[in-house]
Amino acid sequence: MKRIYLDYAASTPVDKRVLEAMQPYFTEKYGNPGSLHAFGQEAIAAVDKSREKVAESIGAKFEEIIFTGSATEANNLALRGFVKSNEVNKIVVSAVEHESVLKTAQDLEEENVEVVVVPVSKDGLVDLEKLKAALDRKTALVSVIYAQNEIGTIEPIAEISKMVKAFNPEILVHTDAVQAFQYLDCDVGKLGVDLMTLSAHKIYGPKGIGALYVNSRLPAMRALITGGGQEFGLRSGTENVPNIVGFAKAVELVSHSRELESKRVGELRDYFWSELKKIHPGAGQNGGEPGLPNILNVHFPDSRAEDLLIKFDKAGIAVSSGSACSARSAEPSHVLQALGLPMEAVKSSIRFSLGRFTSEREIKETLERIIRSII
Ligand code: PLP
Repeated sequence: MKRIYLDYAASTPVDKRVLEAMQPYFTEKYGNPGSLHAFGQEAIAAVDKSREKVAESIGAKFEEIIFTGSATEANNLALRGFVKSNEVNKIVVSAVEHESVLKTAQDLEEENVEVVVVPVSKDGLVDLEKLKAALDRKTALVSVIYAQNEIGTIEPIAEISKMVKAFNPEILVHTDAVQAFQYLDCDVGKLGVDLMTLSAHKIYGPKGIGALYVNSRLPAMRALITGGGQEFGLRSGTENVPNIVGFAKAVELVSHSRELESKRVGELRDYFWSELKKIHPGAGQNGGEPGLPNILNVHFPDSRAEDLLIKFDKAGIAVSSGSACSARSAEPSHVLQALGLPMEAVKSSIRFSLGRFTSEREIKETLERIIRSII
């Protein structure tokens, strides 16, 4: 039985063209970018070129891209980097942030930082009135996810930035654009953000590499990892050259394919959902519009997500439940709970996420297997 992967929001396969770009940096061009000899120069040139490409893709400057070991680390740097340096005492986040923002905010509460978690609508959209009401003199940073990883909801980041800056231009706006990057325009100027998180392994690049965009006009941040001063002093440690090169290649490929891929994947997702509803009329979609074209989160009445996951896996279909991209945890999803769904729905929800290698044939085969052995 051929396995079908419908969990692209958890991670994506490395595109062959990305792998090809990375390979020489493991075996032939293995110098340390910090070394002054030719091997080092070759490595730093690759890092520089990659930084340039990533910067260009989001309308940023070369020196505004900080490569990190993951998007989780980038989110930590965004929140902790300023809290430490500015003695900030209030940050505002949405209730549907990825754990790497929410848990970091919770952790900062232990350091006397006040944290306000802004609720969302039943579709997952941040309540802008409540966000506005949470802003005050003490607020230093607002962090709202661009596209939610479990339900796909797209938040109005440009509008949020405008609102926050109108209240006080000194308040920093951060967005986690990890899931958004494949499908949405992530130009930092248009979004009006000061900080933005990206990740390679959600866009057909390698795992273990992320980036934080940091507006060069911001006050100095404090590094989380200190040492040799790499990444403009914000992230010490020898640069992961193959991963950085792979990240940039993945970014380049996405930048060329965004529109077409959004259309193709969106049509497949809509077809899948319309057929799935025929098979299981009681199934309901979690989250709403505007949403990413590749994510479909569905609750199946009278089922348990754990049982469904096992059935899907036995049928050769990889999907996920709740916040499975963060941990092997069976905890009910904080995102689905934030939508106000009843607990039965939260506990019976499955996320299907499509991607670059999902074909119509695979979707039809998935539907057949669902009829045959799942529902
Ligand atoms: N932010 C979002 C929206 C995600 O979907 C993920 C993925 O798990 C992360 C952050 C964390 O990314 P990473 O695995 O690179 O730490």
